[in-house]
Amino acid sequence: MSDLNGNLARLAPILTRLHETGVMNHIAGQSRAASSGRVFHTHSPVDGSPIAQVARGDVADVDQAALAAQAAFPGWRDIDGEARRKLLHRIADAIVARADDIAVAESWDTGQPIRFMAKAALRGAENFRFFADRAPGARDGQMLPSPTLMNVTTRVPIGPVGVITPWNTPFMLSTWKIAPALAAGCTVVHKPAEFSPVTAKLLLEIAEEAGLPPGVWNIVNGLGEEAGRALTEHAAIRAIAFVGESRTGSAIMAQGAPTLKRVHFELGGKNPVIVFEDADLDRALDAAIFMIYSLNGERCTSSSRLLVQDSIADDFLSRLRDRVARIRVGHPLDPATEVGPLIHETHLRKVASYFEIAKADGATISVGGKVLDGPGHYVAPTLFENATNDMAIAQEEIFGPVLTAIRFTTEDEALRIANDIPYGLTAYVWTNDLTRALRVTDRLEAGMMWVNSENVRHLPTPFGGVKASGIGRDGGDWSFDFYMEQKHIGFATGRHTIPKLGA
Ligand code: NAD
Repeated sequence: MSDLNGNLARLAPILTRLHETGVMNHIAGQSRAASSGRVFHTHSPVDGSPIAQVARGDVADVDQAALAAQAAFPGWRDIDGEARRKLLHRIADAIVARADDIAVAESWDTGQPIRFMAKAALRGAENFRFFADRAPGARDGQMLPSPTLMNVTTRVPIGPVGVITPWNTPFMLSTWKIAPALAAGCTVVHKPAEFSPVTAKLLLEIAEEAGLPPGVWNIVNGLGEEAGRALTEHAAIRAIAFVGESRTGSAIMAQGAPTLKRVHFELGGKNPVIVFEDADLDRALDAAIFMIYSLNGERCTSSSRLLVQDSIADDFLSRLRDRVARIRVGHPLDPATEVGPLIHETHLRKVASYFEIAKADGATISVGGKVLDGPGHYVAPTLFENATNDMAIAQEEIFGPVLTAIRFTTEDEALRIANDIPYGLTAYVWTNDLTRALRVTDRLEAGMMWVNSENVRHLPTPFGGVKASGIGRDGGDWSFDFYMEQKHIGFATGRHTIPKLGA
């Protein structure tokens, strides 16, 4: 990882190219302007400077992209798994070769600190490698013999799919959704988030340079209500993999209903980290801080509610205050920076609105609680204390570097607070009592839990949420369950009796 000046120097030619070409749609292997000729403009969260003019796709562009994905589908479906494996590994190699470019572009586009984005590019490559290795076995099935039949199952890719992604870590999330779709044999139309469209296009160019056939993967940029909606409504698109807000998930489910879309939703979270008195408190403190203040708190799995046991709360919260006050806020391309600017002015206003809401509801702002001087959409890392779980700061996803601390006395109370929320994505439990860890994880309403650990993603494990946090799972074979159809074939093994009607 280079220093700030080195990273700015690496960014300069990328920006020059973006200013010249803008971010176009990419359909059937070609960069294309929106058919309406319309564009929108994006600006860097760091200083508000223009980044790119972006094609504003709509129903006509989505139609072209969906038809391109439909035309490319039979060829891609029928490539044998081993060839697909090799090609996806070539894409991973090419991502690694461009990792530094991807990292600086992503930081500039999103405001995410380079210290995390450098790893995000490499994790994107790992997503491709993981699913590449599973491609040869994607069609595997079972043999389930019965007395009269040899029953076999096999899987086939569902067809062209739509992938809709959010702005927070766009590169990593795009690879996470698109790599398994390609490994399964599906073709893709991707609608990136309008706030941060840069690296999605870079990723597709890398993939096609590595040999991905035209039309297998297409991008239509645009607004959610235009391009996003058209994708969810298109008859040729068989399934929608969506990552974003819970209310957008509801809208997509309704939009996809007339064409009976299969949907996979990774939605919002308001995740508890529960610290019991017997925990390793040093490690619990490090993990609690990391899981809310890394990635600017713009992270679905962030531990945004700290539930801390009364008996240790005074000491734990005093150490927490100290650390939060010392978090380094700065230029995202500076490797020393721990928290960068928020994605957009509207998001800054949303996050900052909770400072007033917290006070009005009776909580205390013990650290931060202010917007920092510009340019750039910076807020101070913030800690709310004396909160109760019914307050808006405990119930709503703020999606910024903002932590709400709530005290509890008993295990039952901790569980009640943890589960008293519409969301259920992740939970983090800190205790050295094994039986308590088993009891608590059994009763927590969350799709993913870590005991004595921050979130450490292991690709074979299922990723996803319960309640308003999502439908379906990614990772391992679960991704193929979504992107593929199961087929059953029964072969008669003899001449069993067939009922004779009308005989
Ligand atoms: P968002 O829901 O506003 O937008 C996400 C995407 O959906 C964008 O590309 C947007 O253009 C598109 N969209 C909006 N309206 C649409 C519509 N009617 N039809 C089709 N597409 C539409 O979310 P965001 O603000 O970009 O991202 C932040 C949210 O994403 C947070 O809630 C966060 O928790 C969630 N998220 C979840 C996960 C997870 O794995 N669970 C991961 C990252 C982010």
